[in-house]
Amino acid sequence: MVLVYEGAVQDLIDELGHLPGIGPKSAQRIAFHLLAAEEGEVQRLVEVLSVVKSRVRFCTVCGNVTEAELCRICADPRRDQGLICVVEEPKDVVAIERTREFAGRYHVLGGAISPIDGIGPGDLRITELMARLSETAITEIIIATDPNLEGEATASYLARQLAPFGLRVSRLASGLPVGGDLEYADEVTLGRAFEEGECSVPDTSLADDPTVTIMQDLRAVADTTSVEARHFLEAVTEVASGASPDTAIPVLLLGVSQVLVAGARLGAIEDVVPTERFEPDAGADPDIDPLRDGLAMVFEGLDDYVDLVDPVTSQELTQGSLSNDLADICTDLLHGQRHYESGQVVEALWWWQFSYLSSWGERAAACLRVLQAIVAHIRLDADEDIVAEAEFDALHP
Ligand SMILES: [Zn+2]
Repeated sequence: MVLVYEGAVQDLIDELGHLPGIGPKSAQRIAFHLLAAEEGEVQRLVEVLSVVKSRVRFCTVCGNVTEAELCRICADPRRDQGLICVVEEPKDVVAIERTREFAGRYHVLGGAISPIDGIGPGDLRITELMARLSETAITEIIIATDPNLEGEATASYLARQLAPFGLRVSRLASGLPVGGDLEYADEVTLGRAFEEGECSVPDTSLADDPTVTIMQDLRAVADTTSVEARHFLEAVTEVASGASPDTAIPVLLLGVSQVLVAGARLGAIEDVVPTERFEPDAGADPDIDPLRDGLAMVFEGLDDYVDLVDPVTSQELTQGSLSNDLADICTDLLHGQRHYESGQVVEALWWWQFSYLSSWGERAAACLRVLQAIVAHIRLDADEDIVAEAEFDALHP
């Protein structure tokens, strides 16, 4: 943050600026509000802050906020002990409690898997969840992480971790808006999602856009591309988390192959023409570098390869990198996905098609060639001694 004011005032602005959702301008506004406020008002704020910090803690069972050892829900004997709803944050507990549809208990993870923010499974309260499973007679788990990329990655990770326990595991997602935050889902939708208890893929039907009428088949291509983009982003996000390095190559071989089918569809249809001359602003793209770094770590020793600049027009060679390829493909797909999720379907499709032709299609194709070569080496290359021994055994029965 730029240093503008002196001493205590700047310290206050800096501290406020560290709070989530508070940018430099808001921090400055709050600081000057506090400076101008009555002594009593500021004193009450100081007291509340210090009381919250000293008295409020996290429930030792579920991780919800509480002033006692157990939160109100864990301490309530009427709540179903066998049913656990897994959420990201304490605020999600509040959102679900408002629906009055859930009679079980919670488990608060304290976030979601997000390589972009450097959050892996080890940073969440997953070990605590496993411990609860072995200590209490739990029969059913509802995974209610947010219906966005990080939430989906966390849900699929959890589903795999929970599989050996033989519980009923479902994903709360049906009807929730894609790309959203559970906290902002309205009570009716959230309540209905609980009644249905469905573990289906979120409904990605397009929000009705009154300004745009697009042909039904283009709409279908956009829907399909969005689903494929999400699957790809989830797969890469999970690989980059480093949670399961052994499956990284086969998962990516599949993921890249599938996303190339989505790309081929865009390459095969006619040019998509955006409805506006200028691309509407979908906000700043997320910083993809942590994802790139995570992938580079997973691919250490395998990352770099020899690439061809353009197989059709030249014989020039260049240097390629799997982590860069995958991160670049994600950047392009995410950019389109953000348009799609904000209802700008034509812009999304236009971007996906344009960037397939100009960048990500080529990167994915090069990347697939390398992944295929790695898989072939792993599966076909055998140790010479072992081959010689096998030949010897075959010749000397
Ligand atoms: Zn609790």
